[in-house]
Amino acid sequence: QSSSGKNQHVTVLAFSFGSHPWPLLNLTSRLALAAPDVSFSFLHTAKSNQKLSATSEAHLPHKLKSYDVADGVPEGHVLTPGNPPEEVELFLEAAPESFRKGMDMAVTETGQQKITCILNDAFLVFGCDMAADMDVKWVPLYVPAPYDLSAHIYSALIHETYAKACGGREAHDAIPGLSVMRFGDLPQEILDQGNHSNSSPILARALHRIREVLPRANAVVMNSFQELNSTILTDNLKSKFQDILYVGFLTLIVPTPPLPPSHSDATGCLPWLDEQKPTSVAYISFGTVAAVPPHEFAALAEALEAAVPPLLWSLRENFIAFLPNGFLERTRKQGKIVPWAPQAHVLSHKVVGVFVTHCGYHSVFESLFGEVPMICRPIFGDHKMNGRIEDVWGIGVRVEGGVFRKKGMVKSLELVLGNDQHGRRMREKIRGLKELVVKAAGPDGIASKDFKTLLELIISTKIT
Ligand code: UDP
Repeated sequence: QSSSGKNQHVTVLAFSFGSHPWPLLNLTSRLALAAPDVSFSFLHTAKSNQKLSATSEAHLPHKLKSYDVADGVPEGHVLTPGNPPEEVELFLEAAPESFRKGMDMAVTETGQQKITCILNDAFLVFGCDMAADMDVKWVPLYVPAPYDLSAHIYSALIHETYAKACGGREAHDAIPGLSVMRFGDLPQEILDQGNHSNSSPILARALHRIREVLPRANAVVMNSFQELNSTILTDNLKSKFQDILYVGFLTLIVPTPPLPPSHSDATGCLPWLDEQKPTSVAYISFGTVAAVPPHEFAALAEALEAAVPPLLWSLRENFIAFLPNGFLERTRKQGKIVPWAPQAHVLSHKVVGVFVTHCGYHSVFESLFGEVPMICRPIFGDHKMNGRIEDVWGIGVRVEGGVFRKKGMVKSLELVLGNDQHGRRMREKIRGLKELVVKAAGPDGIASKDFKTLLELIISTKIT
């Protein structure tokens, strides 16, 4: 036994898709730096491992080792292009067995160090039963927003209220922390509860179990600052779990360190930004998975060409074909189109004046932290809820009619980038919110206290 956690071995199970592995790796790295005697084994698919190595800025701490686990894709099986749910389904089906094998490998590699704690993405709900079988601590990380967790906890009540409202759109005050949301903002899998019409039934079933399993966790870790959420929401969530710890936004490092130019900025976005005028650039990205229909890509491109802001577009290669003929050549001087941008750094650059976003959770808060107002085009899942928060805070606008059309988009770009009252007010409001984040991330913030509590839980030899 040791108060430094010498005999502790934390196995970390990643949901290997979209943006999910980054916050979990960042949390694990921070824990590994703070508890150098504890062994950490980070388990994820080879594909996720490659992506993290290509985009992460730091070397892994000494006692944090990464291991590949099976992705569940049968040998010889060819994945249907452009169908991410298929990959998720195969992964989740095989996941308990794949991770069990991964844990055996980690125990062998660490010289038979017994696992003492499972830290996993909360979407991997089977972590709960695994930890109980192994008689070890269980600490899930909830990657999306706290209001999204509330929606999952109250999914039965939401479903009932929604059915009674016959699909009406009014706000529902009955659900703690969700009074600013409308039914139409909630993830479809919550509204459809029970009739798994979802494109990924195994994931839908897992999300459905969240409300049943998370109360059994030693602590639920939130990828958020408690201070940025309403007391109604945080008090209510607190009453549901043994403990809930807000460790801050895990894809942000506050304050942002300088990024070495050659690392994760292979396409030279940052030097290009250095040459632009303050708050003039439109940055566009739909995150790691989401995409709009082809005609919307074309309409957005036409609007960008017509409004002529300097532009930086992180556009995955398979979508280039949807751009209008000659767009790439014509806009060569106007800006850059790249397959990947160091987004958190881009958004913190003073020249970026607007972010055209799908409202992924990380994107929204990286933008807030960079003080960049948003034009929102939510696509699926929690995007509409995240977008709603921006409306409520007055730091973003929805695209007119909910979809990209040339005329509406030109208007939105002019509104946000312009120096009239509306644009200025948005920038003032966002500055106020950023100050809140900086304070929350400081030594007196809840994140610092909750991180210490998490560290003690991980180091402790007791299972509570
Ligand atoms: N991201 C990035 N460069 C890109 C596109 C995305 O660094 O070119 C990062 C972004 O900073 C964010 C994550 O990918 O941390 C996307 O997460 P988000 O929750 O916004 O969207 P998701 O991919 O989960 O839909």
